[in-house]
Amino acid sequence: MIPTKGYAAQSPTSPLAPYSFERRDPGPNDVQIDILFCGVCHSDIHTARDEWGGTMYPCIPGHEIVGRVVKVGNKVAKFKEGDLGAVGCLVDACRTCDGCKTGLEQYCDKAIFTYNGMEKETGKQTFGGYSKTIVVNQDFVLKVPTNLDLKRVAPLLCAGITTYSPLRHWKVGAGQHVGIVGLGGLGHMGVKLAHAMGAHVTLFTTSPNKVEDGKKLGAHEVIISKDKDQMAKAAKAFDFILDCVSAPHDINALLNCLKLDGTLVQVGAPPQPLPVAVFQLIFKRRSFAGSLIGGIPETQEMLDFCGKNNIMADIELISIDKINEAYERMIRSDVKYRFVIDMATLS
Ligand code: NAP
Ligand code: ZN
Ligand code: ZN
Repeated sequence: MIPTKGYAAQSPTSPLAPYSFERRDPGPNDVQIDILFCGVCHSDIHTARDEWGGTMYPCIPGHEIVGRVVKVGNKVAKFKEGDLGAVGCLVDACRTCDGCKTGLEQYCDKAIFTYNGMEKETGKQTFGGYSKTIVVNQDFVLKVPTNLDLKRVAPLLCAGITTYSPLRHWKVGAGQHVGIVGLGGLGHMGVKLAHAMGAHVTLFTTSPNKVEDGKKLGAHEVIISKDKDQMAKAAKAFDFILDCVSAPHDINALLNCLKLDGTLVQVGAPPQPLPVAVFQLIFKRRSFAGSLIGGIPETQEMLDFCGKNNIMADIELISIDKINEAYERMIRSDVKYRFVIDMATLS
């Protein structure tokens, strides 16, 4: 086993703190990556604080990982020592179900998540990217475009793919009015990606101080979602809305903005149910759907798309000892627009 260090929560109420643990020795198909940068997703907070239920402790979050390959097993052809490698929300899956066979590993009933999952090889719980090193089967390690700034690539591994996948699945593109709700980590990637796909993009935000940034990031228009007049003007105007909000909010006010046959996709995952007024769906044959991250082939496609279009996250780089402060700021919607941990600060 490989002794290493990370930052862990020991209970729903304890702050994250330094923690020593072990990674498995790389097997024939494994890649060991020394982590350079790890993005901070709101799912890390939901999990560390057990807001969704089911958190195992100690909990080391982090699923937006980029780093340097330091060791490979003898059957690894995809990577060699010294390469860059990236890991997102998944580290394995059953590999035999319909989802796995079609590159939709995220929907596999036996998908193994990067943290708070159960590792096949050891039978022990998985620990995420707020750590020095990680060992992952080569099939779940992504290739990083070499032309991009690595610390700004890390958030693509969750915020990027979680917004890219539904935009592609619902065929967002030129000629469509697309709304992105909430300008946080996911939302700002949603704005950039929908813009790059050619859509007319409107940001819905609760934060008046984000209007200018929203436009700089690629929104053609910005609506303050708490302003009833602005929301009334947006009624029945949108083909597609991607909701990236982490807390309870008025979903019906957003459904009301969809055209006939429009779709609202929920990727934000508030722990509490969101009450839907069914007449918002019935009268305009609207759809209310959800989407979970993305599979491995699509994650690689997204990284390549970002490499080609020079798309990266806007980040605030932090040292790991600032992680608890970063969580408090994210909860106040005060981050531009993703915190990324410089893992060199974990000694
Ligand atoms: P984040 O950076 O904290 O952004 C959330 C944004 O939501 C905030 O910046 C804010 O935007 C808006 N917001 C926050 N509280 C609000 C409230 N009470 N009412 C209305 N708007 C509010 O979070 P994130 O990392 O982007 O994650 C967003 C959500 O997606 C989380 O629940 C996370 O767990 C989930 N997630 C889901 C998937 C998936 O596969 N479906 C993957 C990753 C993350 P404004 O200031 O612009 O209003
Ligand atoms: Zn995430
Ligand atoms: Zn499967």
